[in-house]
Amino acid sequence: MKKSVFSFTVAATVGLSLFAGSSAVSEAASISDLKDKQNEIHNKRSNLKSNINDANAKINNLHGQQANVKSEMQRLDFAIGDTNAKIREKTAKISETQGKINQLQGEIKVIVERMEKRNSLLKERARNYQETGGMINYIDVLMGAKSFSDFIDRANAVATIMEADQELLKQADADKKELEDKRAKVEKDLTSLQEMKSELEQMNKRLSSQRAEKNKLLSKLVLKEKEVHEGKLALEEEEQILAGQEAAIQKAIQLEKERQAAAAAAAAAAAKAPTPSSGGGLGKAPAISGGTFTRPAAGVMSSGFGTRPGFRPGEFHYGVDIANHASNVPIVAAADGVVIRSYYSNSYGNCIFISHSINGQVYTTVYAHMEARIVGNGAVVKKGQQIGIMGSTGDSTGQHLHFELHRGQWVPDRHNAINPVGIVPL
Ligand SMILES: [Zn+2]
Repeated sequence: MKKSVFSFTVAATVGLSLFAGSSAVSEAASISDLKDKQNEIHNKRSNLKSNINDANAKINNLHGQQANVKSEMQRLDFAIGDTNAKIREKTAKISETQGKINQLQGEIKVIVERMEKRNSLLKERARNYQETGGMINYIDVLMGAKSFSDFIDRANAVATIMEADQELLKQADADKKELEDKRAKVEKDLTSLQEMKSELEQMNKRLSSQRAEKNKLLSKLVLKEKEVHEGKLALEEEEQILAGQEAAIQKAIQLEKERQAAAAAAAAAAAKAPTPSSGGGLGKAPAISGGTFTRPAAGVMSSGFGTRPGFRPGEFHYGVDIANHASNVPIVAAADGVVIRSYYSNSYGNCIFISHSINGQVYTTVYAHMEARIVGNGAVVKKGQQIGIMGSTGDSTGQHLHFELHRGQWVPDRHNAINPVGIVPL
C-alpha cells in the first residue's frame, strides 16, 4: 500500500487518533493520491475486463466445439438409425428365406416319401413276378378277358401301367433334383444374407462406439464451459466491486475539491461536520464514538472473528456478529465513506459495502443480514449515519448484524478481512 495520506470528505477534520503517525500533507497531494488510487483501480478493472472478454471468447469457442460435436453426433445417430433399418430388413429376409428353405425341405420330404412308397410297390411287383415265374399277374389280368377286344384293352392297360410306373419314378426323381437345386440356391442366399447382416452389425458397433466417444467429448466440453463460466462470474463480481470503489474515489475527489473551495471561501471559518443522523425514531442507535470508527450497531458481540467452536474444519468467520433482539435496531456506518454496493445477496441477505479512505488507506466495511437498507449505491455516508435496520435475511439463523472490516478492497476470497476488535469500538 502507498504511504500517501489523504482525507476523505469532511471526515478528514475528525480525529484520526487510531492511525498514529499521520502527517500533514498538502491538500493537492490528497487529490493526486486519490487520482493515483483511482487510476490503479481503473487499470485493475481494465485487466479484469480483458480477462472477462477472454472468458467470453473461450465460452464462444467451447459453444462452437459443442455445436460441432452435436452435429457429428446427429450424423452418427442418422447412420446408426439407417444401419438398424437395414439390419431389420436383412433379419426379415433371413426369416423369409429360412421359411422358404423349410418349405422346400417339406416338399422334398413329400417327394422322397412318395418315391419310396412307389419304389417298394414296384419291388413288391418285381418280387411277385419272380415268384410266379413271369408276368403271371399281368397274364392273370389278360386271361381274365371276356372277349378279344377286352383282351386288347387289358393288354394296353397293363403296358400303360408299367410305363406309367417308370414315368412316375423318373418324374419324381426329376422333381426331387429340381427342389434340391432350389434349396441349394436358397441356402446360398441365406448365407450371403447372414454375412451382410453380420457386417451391418459390426458397422453399427463401430458407429455406436464413435457416438459414445463424441458424447464423452461433449460432457468434457460442457464441464469446461461451466468452469470458465464460474471463473467469469468471479471476475465480474470483482470488477463490479472495483467499479463501485472507483466511483467512490471519484466522489471523494469531487467532495474534496468542494471542501477545498468552501474552505478557501470561508477562509478561517472552520465548519464542523453536521451531527450525523442517529436513525430518527427507529430504536436505539449506538452512541457515536470520537475516533475514526464507531460501533455499527447496539447489542452484544455474539461471535468473534476467526474460527469458532462448533465450526466445520476450514470454516472461518470473516467478521463479528452483533446480536440484538429489540425491534427496529438501527445499523449505522462505522466510518465516513461511500456506499459501493447496496443489494440483496443469497448469503449476506440485505447487505451494504462501504469504502472508506483513511490516511491514504482504503478500508471496506460490510453490513449483512439487514432487514432493510436505507442507502443506495454511491451514497455518501457519515460515521454513525443510519444505513439500515438489523434483521436476519440471507444465510442467517437469528437477528444480528454480521460486520466485516477489510484492509483494502473486498475480494471474493476475503483475504483482506481483519479482526475489527481493537480498531472499531465493539
Ligand atoms: Zn457473522
